[in-house]
Amino acid sequence: MPSSLIQKYMRLSHLPTIWCPGCGHGILMRDVAQAIENTGLPRHKVCIVSGIGCSSRAAGYMDFSTIHTTHGRAIAFATGIKITRPDLHVIVITGDGDAAAIGGNHLIHAARRNIDLTVVVFNNNIYGMTGGQYSPSTPTGEFGTTAPYGNIDRPFDIARLAAGAGATYTARGTAYHVNETIEAIQNGIEHTGFSLIDCYSVCPTYYGRKNKKGNSINLLQWQREHGVTTKRAAQMNGSLPEGTYLVGTLTQDKLPEYTAQYQKIIDKCQEEKR
Ligand code: SF4
Ligand code: MG
Repeated sequence: MPSSLIQKYMRLSHLPTIWCPGCGHGILMRDVAQAIENTGLPRHKVCIVSGIGCSSRAAGYMDFSTIHTTHGRAIAFATGIKITRPDLHVIVITGDGDAAAIGGNHLIHAARRNIDLTVVVFNNNIYGMTGGQYSPSTPTGEFGTTAPYGNIDRPFDIARLAAGAGATYTARGTAYHVNETIEAIQNGIEHTGFSLIDCYSVCPTYYGRKNKKGNSINLLQWQREHGVTTKRAAQMNGSLPEGTYLVGTLTQDKLPEYTAQYQKIIDKCQEEKR
């Protein structure tokens, strides 16, 4: 992370992070900080909410109004904050397990309501902090401590899940594609409505080791080789090679935002009281 971003946005007393050497979460946290910087928003207008897991440590390191909540409930806390302070830009930093397993119900209903939150998923395809259990985004056939013979579940594509539930901005980021990921997070913050940026992270300690995929460099190389930016995809007329995935904006829509609708109800009630 550039030292200017560290000085400006990190709680220096909390550094260094507890993340393992080679973890992708530090890169993604930098992307969130850079995206906030690019929006020009003053610090006091940004609130960062996290749940539980390796990803969710980010809220402790970032020097904003932050809240590190309970497992799976980050979006529920963020909803409460946004309803009471619609002027704030509320960013949720969560993991694949936190967002799509324990917090799956909060995720789909916040998306359905189109409440103006920006959810950034640090998706490492596994439960890192609790010891490498398979998660809702572990690919079929891959391994975790709770899937020693291979995972038989089909994984969620968390961005598609959110879009299907009603999110009005979805995007894919990765730890490798820094510029595209920063742009997607910035788009999400500037978008009015529920936005989710599903960012592939790298977890060499559990996901890489359990699946014999090598170290952090090997995992980042895989992201480079399989991620196709929307710019490149446009040159391919949208037909992606087998086994690759799109990086950048996936879906975008303009629909009424929840807190604005809620304010109309408040106004109506107050009108009737007079
Ligand atoms: Fe990162 Fe994995 Fe280590 Fe957690 S366990 S800090 S996700 S490398
Ligand atoms: Mg995870």
